[in-house]
Amino acid sequence: MACGRCGGLVVPHDLAYDGICSATALRCLACGDLTDAVILEHRAHWREPYPEANPKPFDPTSGTGAPLA
Ligand SMILES: [Zn+2]
Repeated sequence: MACGRCGGLVVPHDLAYDGICSATALRCLACGDLTDAVILEHRAHWREPYPEANPKPFDPTSGTGAPLA
């Protein structure tokens, strides 16, 4: 399996949270990216935080985005 960030080789990695609970994640041998089911679920539902506070700049080709101040 390949890493979603760098394309490196990922291997199973056991996580021990408190000595009682544990889970298995995937760790990239090249960049160290650690991914488990919870991280994948959050990435699938990620959205731009506070889009009204950081409007996209005006794009003259499409006419979308916030007008220049
Ligand atoms: Zn990687």
